[in-house]
Amino acid sequence: MTATPQIELIRVDKHYGAFHALKGIDLSIPKGQFVALVGPSGCGKSTLLRSIAGLESISGGEMRIAGDVVNNVPPRKRDLAMVFQSYALYPHMTVRKNLTYSLRLQGADTATANKAAEDVAKITGLDQLLDRYPRQLSGGQRQRVAMGRAIIRDPKAFLFDEPLSNLDAALRVHMRAEIRKLHNRLGATSVYVTHDQIEAMTMADHVVVLRDGVVEQQGAPLDLYDRPANLFVAGFIGSPAMNFVDATVREDGLSAKAALPGGPVIQLPLRVQPNEDIVLGLRPEYLKLASQSKAKLTVPLGVIEVTGSTTYLVSDTDPELMIAVQGRPDLKVGDRMPLTFDDNALHVFRRADGLALT
Ligand code: ATP
Repeated sequence: MTATPQIELIRVDKHYGAFHALKGIDLSIPKGQFVALVGPSGCGKSTLLRSIAGLESISGGEMRIAGDVVNNVPPRKRDLAMVFQSYALYPHMTVRKNLTYSLRLQGADTATANKAAEDVAKITGLDQLLDRYPRQLSGGQRQRVAMGRAIIRDPKAFLFDEPLSNLDAALRVHMRAEIRKLHNRLGATSVYVTHDQIEAMTMADHVVVLRDGVVEQQGAPLDLYDRPANLFVAGFIGSPAMNFVDATVREDGLSAKAALPGGPVIQLPLRVQPNEDIVLGLRPEYLKLASQSKAKLTVPLGVIEVTGSTTYLVSDTDPELMIAVQGRPDLKVGDRMPLTFDDNALHVFRRADGLALT
């Protein structure tokens, strides 16, 4: 028998008047899993999270928490903890009071509440800051108080709505590791909304990619990276983004060939229809600098972006190709770059509907 999912959505719909914001969402989150909802602005990720929280009522389908249908259960009875981007701390209360507020509301006595606050402060690294007010804390510390406040209740799941987007880049990287560590330590079920696919990839066990209220694909981070189901997911997951080149299939057969406009003829790793219009996808790290004799294509270098470890080379072609190489190649803008790639690293999508041809 499989365990009951901690959160389960079955064909969930949400309408705002005539606008269809969530279209038949199916999602099953096992206990202890960290799930990221990711997608571009307006795709419906906050609506989905708020629906799980009960802050939005759903228009159709079924939602279950720990096996119980909660469609008509108000937010406070769902036993979930939400961590917002704005932290929503009480400015006139100390960290200790912020942490214990919900316990006190539930009737906990002072000693029990303070003991819980001290335990949570240790877990979140706030033990030296219990008597400070929110205004006396840094952004990262406030974020930890918001987390601590969620943890103290031992809820059925944590819901995070872009909790790191107000922090600077370095702190964001630090906090995402902290949140993930905390998640591991608590074994909690977490649903995390972000528009940042790197955050989703690095933090989550399971990533759900949304577009226009539809789940485009869901799976383990590297499954989405290695086997994107369609052009949208292929372009959305991965930074820098996958290169795309239009091509047409020249021959049928086990080793169909694709002719690139003005470029090489390449063997495709799968069977596709003759004359099919396709899009070839190749991640920047799979394009390699080669010797002239081994080159599959040669392109002029348009832009060099150095980071210290990885160098990004952008071709002066249409479409541009992005090449990621380790180290510091001895090249300058205008040089011709001989490139090679492994045919097996190519992704092939049907141009008509964007679906991956696997
Ligand atoms: P963002 O990353 O910009 O926050 P999101 O993916 O979280 O985007 P949602 O806030 O879930 O997107 O919104 C999804 C869609 O539903 C958007 O097109 C939005 O305009 C619409 N929407 C959200 N709330 C309402 C509302 N109360 N009334 C009408 N439309 C709404």
